[in-house]
Amino acid sequence: MALTGLQIQKLLPKTNCKECGSNTCLAFAMKLAGKKAELSECPYASDEAKAILGAASEPPVRLLSLGEAKIGGELYLYRHEKTFTNQTIFAVNINDTDDGVQDTLKLISDYVLERVGESLKIGAVAVTQTQDDPGKFIETVKMVASAGCPAIIRAKNADAAKDSAPLIKNTGGIIAGVTADSADSLAETAKDNGLILAVTGTTIDEIAGITAKLKEGGFNDILISLPANTLSQSFQFNTVARRAALGNVKQMGYTFIRFIDSCDTYDMLREGTNEVCKYGGVLVFPKLDIAVISTLMTLRQNIYTDPQKPIQMEPKVYKIGEPDENSNVWLTTNFSLTYFLVSGEIEGAGQNAWLLIPECEGLSVLTAWAAGKFGGEMIAKFVKEQGLDDTQKNKTMIIPGYVAQIKGDIEEGLPGWNILVGCQEASDIESFVNSTLK
Ligand code: SF4
Repeated sequence: MALTGLQIQKLLPKTNCKECGSNTCLAFAMKLAGKKAELSECPYASDEAKAILGAASEPPVRLLSLGEAKIGGELYLYRHEKTFTNQTIFAVNINDTDDGVQDTLKLISDYVLERVGESLKIGAVAVTQTQDDPGKFIETVKMVASAGCPAIIRAKNADAAKDSAPLIKNTGGIIAGVTADSADSLAETAKDNGLILAVTGTTIDEIAGITAKLKEGGFNDILISLPANTLSQSFQFNTVARRAALGNVKQMGYTFIRFIDSCDTYDMLREGTNEVCKYGGVLVFPKLDIAVISTLMTLRQNIYTDPQKPIQMEPKVYKIGEPDENSNVWLTTNFSLTYFLVSGEIEGAGQNAWLLIPECEGLSVLTAWAAGKFGGEMIAKFVKEQGLDDTQKNKTMIIPGYVAQIKGDIEEGLPGWNILVGCQEASDIESFVNSTLK
């Protein structure tokens, strides 16, 4: 029978030392109960706790760190059951024979896609050995390591992997292409260097055999690279493997890494879409193609957003352009999409303005108002808390047209302010500015 958070807490040291990343032992116990953490994250867990909790507290898909990012730790087969948690990490491959590696690394580390308040980046670089001489391969791994990017080593043989592993020691990097023959010796290398092993084989059963053997030998930082040759196979294998993991088949309890081989734009998009939607942990693109990567980053952001928690802006006053005490104050909710639409339209209309964003739990304007989280009284209070009542000479506030009914309550709470009812749609802001504010 599964233990509750309180039952688990009784087995923990109860010192609240925070080393597991939770503020209290109880918070950590709740995570264990929800299979969102592993007992090994508490360095002070007693033998008794380990014996009682043991494998029962492990998440069905092992949680790992690749550099600073988390991978795995998923609990659901379908996003709509609750949410997917740790998004697919995007990596770009560099071959050891490529020219201009430093330039490519700079482009990779400089690339950022800003979207609805999040900065989306490429999370790792893979290095593939394409010729027999390991010298050039090791040199390329060195360059990636000094660029500070988590590295995925894809050597031609175990010896080259072993020689290059110390270069990325304790970076949370990955040794890829681990087979039944190389698993034992590379497990030692991975242990010594704090790295993850990406296991592969010709069938799912063969991979399951390798992961079981590694785990028996005390090594459990594993990814699996499924042997799919076609898109439909990879869709099928990913689903079968994840379903097995969630059904407590421990040999399959790991997230996936996939290398896309084709440099064709549509192949990359097709395979990338499959991995993002179907449980990919790490996705390696064969080259840096910003059009493909940015498209899939947008998809990934949508898939890995908790549907129960809208993306929100921090409640505060935002500057549009160079506003001062004579600028107008605009009002909308803290739903990110609304914020970015409204701020973009105000800026596009050539306005220097203050944009007031109160706490509305990330709801859109009408929903927030209907839920009682966007009322005149709280908005007036928020204006005062933000100091606008003291600093603004121009006390004009434009409120969304959909909530004209809160105008009276704001006026009551903010004597001396001129409250204007604006347009209903952000796309009409420019016409509103031209017809009413100029
Ligand atoms: S590391 Fe262990 S003892 Fe410390 S807070 Fe976490 S659970 Fe408690």
